Amino acid sequence: MHVTRVNDQVHMVTGTNVNWALVSDGSALTLVDTGYPNDSAALLASIAETGHRPQDVTAILITHAHLDHIGGVPMMTGRFGTPVLTGAEEARHARREYLEQITPLEMLRLCGHRASRRWVLDTVRAVFPQIKISLPQVGVVPPKEPLDVPGGLVAIPTPGHTTGHTAYLMPSTGVLFSGDALVTGHPTSRRGEGPQRLPEVFNTSEDGVTTAIAALRDLPADTLVPGHGGLARGPLADMVDKALR
Ligand SMILES: [Zn+2]
Repeated sequence: MHVTRVNDQVHMVTGTNVNWALVSDGSALTLVDTGYPNDSAALLASIAETGHRPQDVTAILITHAHLDHIGGVPMMTGRFGTPVLTGAEEARHARREYLEQITPLEMLRLCGHRASRRWVLDTVRAVFPQIKISLPQVGVVPPKEPLDVPGGLVAIPTPGHTTGHTAYLMPSTGVLFSGDALVTGHPTSRRGEGPQRLPEVFNTSEDGVTTAIAALRDLPADTLVPGHGGLARGPLADMVDKALR
């Protein structure tokens, strides 16, 4: 687990090949995504490292309901009763009314390349045995208006990686939490580091991903906290152009 300070209020945390973020507002915290199930101890450690208690987290915002982003939710809701929220369509995915996720066969196929094989092993270790998580208690946030959560984040619908994928913008500090709509690297990527889409095997709709990335261009943000890869700073339009190239 590695904690990166983004600004006075925001920390990005890297767990097993995945990021989550802590947004503070006074003593209260919003958690954006939660890592893999077996990142739960690291999740608690990251909250402590930023000087907070798990009880300070008054909202968990989920970008999408893949296991590397919702893994810590059952622990947080079970032990601390933390509310968990996402966009309306992704809430259906989180309740597992349907499942859009890489299949075991697709993961096996990735094993042909050394870096991807390493990712598959990491993933199995980070997930097992909690391979089936559903979040029946998930709440719905409205799009494009300041939410009543610490940091006043705004939900930005970014369908493509999943049908209900939702990014979050923090207007007051110009930070975009892009989840898996726009990342800056991934162990299975052959594009190296820098703004990019995830490899095709992970996405539900490639056209959707393209449209979602293009729609980020004019958001008032100059700092990117992605679901995978490092923190990026600079004009968001430049990042969008690089990712679409
Ligand atoms: Zn992910």
